[in-house]
Amino acid sequence: MKTSLYPDTLLLIDNAWSQASDGRWQDVVNPATGNKIGRVAHASLDDLDRALAAAKRGFEIWKATSAHERAALMRRAASLLRERIDDIAPLITLEQGKPLQEARAELEAAAPIIEWFADEGLRVYGRIVPSRSPNVQQLVLKEPVGPVAAFTPWNFPVNQIVRKLSAALTTGCSFLVKAPEETPASPAALLQAFVDAGLPPGVLGLVYGDPQQISSHLIAHPIIRKVTFTGSTPVGKQLASLAGAHMKRVTMELGGHAPVIVAEDADLDLAVSTAGLSAFRNAGQVCISPTRFLVHNSRKDEFNKALVRHAESLRIGDGLDTNVTLGPLANPRRLSAMITCVEDALEKGAVLLTGGKRLGECGNFFAPTILDDVPVNASIFNEEPFGPIAGIRGYDDLGEPAEFGKNRTLRFSGQP
Ligand code: NAD
Repeated sequence: MKTSLYPDTLLLIDNAWSQASDGRWQDVVNPATGNKIGRVAHASLDDLDRALAAAKRGFEIWKATSAHERAALMRRAASLLRERIDDIAPLITLEQGKPLQEARAELEAAAPIIEWFADEGLRVYGRIVPSRSPNVQQLVLKEPVGPVAAFTPWNFPVNQIVRKLSAALTTGCSFLVKAPEETPASPAALLQAFVDAGLPPGVLGLVYGDPQQISSHLIAHPIIRKVTFTGSTPVGKQLASLAGAHMKRVTMELGGHAPVIVAEDADLDLAVSTAGLSAFRNAGQVCISPTRFLVHNSRKDEFNKALVRHAESLRIGDGLDTNVTLGPLANPRRLSAMITCVEDALEKGAVLLTGGKRLGECGNFFAPTILDDVPVNASIFNEEPFGPIAGIRGYDDLGEPAEFGKNRTLRFSGQP
C-alpha cells in the first residue's frame, strides 16, 4: 500500500466530518520511517462545544431507542467493520507501526466485541425489591448515565475505543472520544462504520487536539456524565482527580507490570513460545505484556538460550512488509524510554543477553532485548517498560520472589 493512500483525519460531529473551526492541523508520522504521512484536525474550544451539544442531542435520541434497535445497529456496524478489514489494517500499520497481521488481528477481534456488547444490552435487567408496605412497589431500573467522554491511547488505536464505545452504545449513552493524535485514521474508520450502519447524529463524536485542553474542557462540562480513560498512570491520576472535582463517574485502565514464573518442572518450549510471543507482540506496547521473568535457577540457562533464540528470530522492519514480525515503537518517546531502561539495568548490574539498542537511524526501531540477572531495584522490575524488553532473574525456591519483594519499595509509573 502506498503511503499516499493515508487520509487526513477530520473531526466527527453530528455525523459530519469537518476541519477544525480555526483550520488547525497536526502532523501524523509513520513510526517506521519518521516521515509525515498525513494530518489530523486539531479541535478548538468551539469545536468541542459543538461536539458536546451534539452528544447531548444524540443522547436524547439514543436513550429513547429500544435496546433491540441499538443491538441491531451495532451488529450492522460490526459487519461493516469486518468487510473493511483489508482497508483499515494498513492504516493501523502506517500510523502505529505494528505488523500488518497484528493490525488485522486487532480488527478481527473488534467486531466480536461489538457483537458481544450488542447482545449484553438486551439483558440489562432491573429488579423488584420487596417493600414493607403492600401499597408500595419498589423497582430498580437501569438507565443510561448520559453522554460519555472517552480518552484512548495509541497502542491499539481501534480496540481501545471499541470496548468503551460498545459498552456505552449498548446501554443507550452517547459517546464522545478523544482518540490518539498519533494514530487518528483507524479510529475514524471505526466510527465511520457506525455512521454507515445508521447511527443517529450526535450519538458518536470524535475529536483530536491538545489532550490536556480537551480533557479539562470535557470532564468539567455539565453535559458529560461519565469519564473513561486508558493510558498512563500519571495522566490517569490527573483525569480521575478532575472527574472527582466535578463528581463524575470514572473508569480508568492504566499501566500494568506482568510477572512470569518459570518453575523447575516447566515445559520450556511452551513457556518460551507463549511468553515470548506476548512479550514482543505490538513491540511490547501492551498493558498485559510479560515484563519480569522469574526463572528457576536449574532451568535458567536453557530458558535464556531459548528466549534469546526466539527474540533473534523475529523479523524486524516496516510492518507493511508481510514477512515482518516486529515493527517499530509507536513514537520516539518509547525509543528514549527503552534506552534509559536498558542503561539503568546495566548500571545496576544486569547482563545483556541480546538487543539493547536502537536499530538504524530512521524510524523508532529497537532491538528485542533480554536482560539477565536483573537486580530488583532496576527500573524494569519496578516500572512498566512498555516496549520489547524482557528482564530475567533466577530463583531457587518459589518463596524467594515474595521474599525479595519485602525489601524493596514498589514503585509504579507516576509515583516519585
Ligand atoms: P502519556 O501519559 O503522555 O499518554 C498516554 C495517553 O493519554 C495518550 O494517548 C495521550 O494522548 C493521552 N493523554 C496524555 N495527556 C492527556 C490528558 N491530559 N488528557 C487526556 N489524555 C491525555 O504517555 P505515552 O507516552 O503516550 O505512553 C506512555 C505510557 O502510557 C506507557 O509507558 C504505558 O505505561 C502507558 N500506556 C498504557 C496503555 C494501556 O493500554 N494501559 C496504553 C498506552 C500507554
